[in-house]
This record gives sequence, C-alpha cells and structure tokens, in this order.
Amino acid sequence: MSETVLAARVGALHRSGIRAVMALAAQRERAGKPVIHLEVGQPDFPTPAHILDAACRAMQNGLPGYTPNAGITSLREAVAERVTRLNGRPVSVDSVCITSGAVAALQLALLAVVEPGDEVLIPDPGWPNYRSATTLAGGVCVPYPLNPVRGFAIDLDALAARISARSRVLMLNSPGNPTGAVFTAEQVASVLALAEQHGLYVLSDEVYEDLVFGGARHASAFTAASSDRVILVSGASKSYAMTGWRIGWLVAHPALAAGAAALVEPQTSCPATIAQVAAEAALRGPQDAVGTMRDAYGRRAQLAAACLEGTGLLVARPSGAFYAMLDIARSGLDSSMFVQRALEISGVAVAPGSTFGAVAAKNVRVSLASSDDAIREGLRRLADLLPG
Ligand code: PLP
Repeated sequence: MSETVLAARVGALHRSGIRAVMALAAQRERAGKPVIHLEVGQPDFPTPAHILDAACRAMQNGLPGYTPNAGITSLREAVAERVTRLNGRPVSVDSVCITSGAVAALQLALLAVVEPGDEVLIPDPGWPNYRSATTLAGGVCVPYPLNPVRGFAIDLDALAARISARSRVLMLNSPGNPTGAVFTAEQVASVLALAEQHGLYVLSDEVYEDLVFGGARHASAFTAASSDRVILVSGASKSYAMTGWRIGWLVAHPALAAGAAALVEPQTSCPATIAQVAAEAALRGPQDAVGTMRDAYGRRAQLAAACLEGTGLLVARPSGAFYAMLDIARSGLDSSMFVQRALEISGVAVAPGSTFGAVAAKNVRVSLASSDDAIREGLRRLADLLPG
C-alpha cells in the first residue's frame, strides 16, 4: 500500500491540549472510573426553548436550501442592529458576514488580510486556535504577554516591543479565554491607538461579550471611535448556549466583509441554513436566558474564589467568560504533567496552561461551565494535590 503523504500544513498546525485532556478523560470513563469535568469550555445550559421552536417551525415549513455566502439577509440585519445598539457604531448589513461559528470568522478574517510571512500578534495566554488559524493563513505568530500579576491585563510596553515592519494583525480577546479577564475601556483604547499608529488590523474576538460580571463592563474594540481596520468577531455559541449550531459573525468594513464572504465559497458555501434561522430567533427573541446564564457564571466565579480562598492558587479573580486560572507552580510539574496527575490521582479534568502559551506554563484552566458541586469538589481535590 502506498504511503499517505499529507501536505505540510497539517503537521504545522498547533493542536489544542484541551482536546487531548478530553480524550484522556473519556478513556478513563470508558474504564468505569468517574471524572469531574472542569476542562470543557462550553455552556452547560441547553439552548433556550424559543430558539429550538423557531428552528422546528422553519423545518416544518420547508426550509430553503443554500443561503448567500454571507448568510441570510435578515440575520445579517439582526447582527447589524445589535452591533449598532451595543457599540454605538452605525453598521449596515454590508459590514456583516455570518460564519460557521466565531472560529470560522477568525480564520476568514486572517485569510482575508494576511500575506505569507506577515506577523500576527496573539495574546499569551490565548485561545490555542489563534495559533493554528494564523499558521493556516501563512502568517507567523508573535505572542504578546498578558500580565497575571495585574489580572492578565495587557502589558502595553511588551506589546509595543513586539511590533515590527512585518506586523499585520493584532488579535484581542476580551472577555478572555483562558483568563476570564475583561479589559477596561482605557486598556482597549491604548491598544487601538498603538495599532493605529502602526497601521495594524485589530481582530477583536468578543465571543464572550455578554458574559461579564462582578461590576466589570465589556469594552468593545469596535466603536464609533475605532478605525476601519478593526474587525469584530462574535457569535451565538456562548451568549445563547448554541455551540453545536455553529453560528458566528464577522463585522468589518464592507470591503473586508465581502472578502471574507468570498472566502466562504470554496469552504462551506454558507453556514447551515437551519442554524442561521435559529440564530436570528436568538438575536430577535427574549434575552432573559442570556442574563440567567451570565448570573450563573458570575456566581460560580465567586464560588471558585471562595473555595480557593487562602490557598494562593487563584491567579486572578475572573470578571468574564467562564474560566479561572490556577497557579500550580508549587507542584514542581509543568502543566501537562500536572493535568495528567490530576486526572489519574484525583479524577479531575482541567486544561493545561501550556496549551495557551508560555506565560501560563505553570497554570491550569478550570472551566466554570460546570455544576456548583463539580466546581466545589474539583477545586477541593486540586487544592489537596497542591499542599501549601
Ligand atoms: N473565541 C474564543 C476565545 C473561544 O473560546 C471560542 C470557543 O471556545 C471561540 C472563539 C469559538 O466559538 P464558536 O463556537 O463560535 O466557534
């Protein structure tokens, strides 16, 4: 049999360490051993009933087939109205491209603006997909540090020092995965000014924009004051517990949104029609479920902080998204080894910090998209593994 030779880009991809833990946890469960799951970053709530009803009704009425590449016009309008309302920047439908999850919006944006060898500044720690999406677009990742001592705020001087003549895109993520940090309006404004000064695109991943608590406020990078080079990415997954529906969006200058829509054609033609109908129902329907979920994540962030009080393990109190970072330095292990031990010895699955970047090499990420009992018991067992 002839050997299967794959293109180099497959091997060049940075694979997420979170999936590796999920696989190990599943293996353990198959062997009949229980696992407390604190590794998975997806809402533990069901998609609200009115959204499911809208999708069912559409199917019963005979769903239309393909949609335009950029999505159903009425959904694009709903996104444009939302962004206009929330961000105070009037946006027309031409600025909106609906995508198969925010993950595709990020990839399309990079494919639309990155030339081979261009540098993309990515947060460290940051979501692992930023690295693979940059690589796939032919770009070179340049991590910039978030400062754990200052609640994972951006270190502006360190960021400025990493900008070069090849820099093309600056990626921002607030509320942040894995940090739970929410950047202040002043921090965002400073980053935008720096990007403007160097003619960079700002790719702002605001997929957790609705999940902010504890007195913090989300500051979008896409406002009336920001330049045409700011690209906003968000989606339905986190706000509406719709991860499996795979709907996200990109909002940008109309020429850029059109470029992204053109790139959809050879990949998926369009996002799934039924999911687009459901996402429109989510955006136009009652919003109380969003508030209920936000409050639950906020309460769990408080619970996690209370469980870890006095242990010195919590790196920074989360103000958004549904994650908390724990400092495991005193285990003497790197984060991957610690994660394996936590699973084997304590039956707790968490994500290794190293998968998010060098800054978090001695951290693990705990997901708060889990029940109170799982958080309480999981954190107790992790703390027991790390005697003070
Ligand atoms: N951006 C961040 C920071 C995420 O954590 C995730 C999902 O975990 C995404 C984007 C992708 O979300 P979606 O389900 O819309 O593709």
